[in-house]
Amino acid sequence: MEIGTLDVMSPQNGGRINTLVFYPGRCVRCGMCLKVCPHRVFALEGERIRLARPADCMECGACRKNCPSHAIEVDSGVGCASAMIKAALRGREDVVCGEDCCR
Ligand code: SF4
Ligand code: SF4
Repeated sequence: MEIGTLDVMSPQNGGRINTLVFYPGRCVRCGMCLKVCPHRVFALEGERIRLARPADCMECGACRKNCPSHAIEVDSGVGCASAMIKAALRGREDVVCGEDCCR
């Protein structure tokens, strides 16, 4: 059963500012999104996960890739530019936003 969804909306114009969508009803509270998100978009509030800073999402796709219950959707697009540049400098082909970029 879906409890609900939460789109990322701009407070100014009511339009979406990125493609991140969180389905709290699917979340099993594994904590992976807390670990992998380089911008701390998700937060633990009591025993629940919530979108704390949705506007900071830059659509790297790490949370969706690591969420075991498909509670997160995001079009990852080109991914994190910072991670790609740093991974290239390190000679890595497997780019991991968070591990390779902002932390
Ligand atoms: S797509 Fe990347 S930046 Fe956006 S919430 Fe997920 S892990 Fe964080
Ligand atoms: S990775 Fe998915 S299931 Fe795990 S806490 Fe985050 S939203 Fe919930």
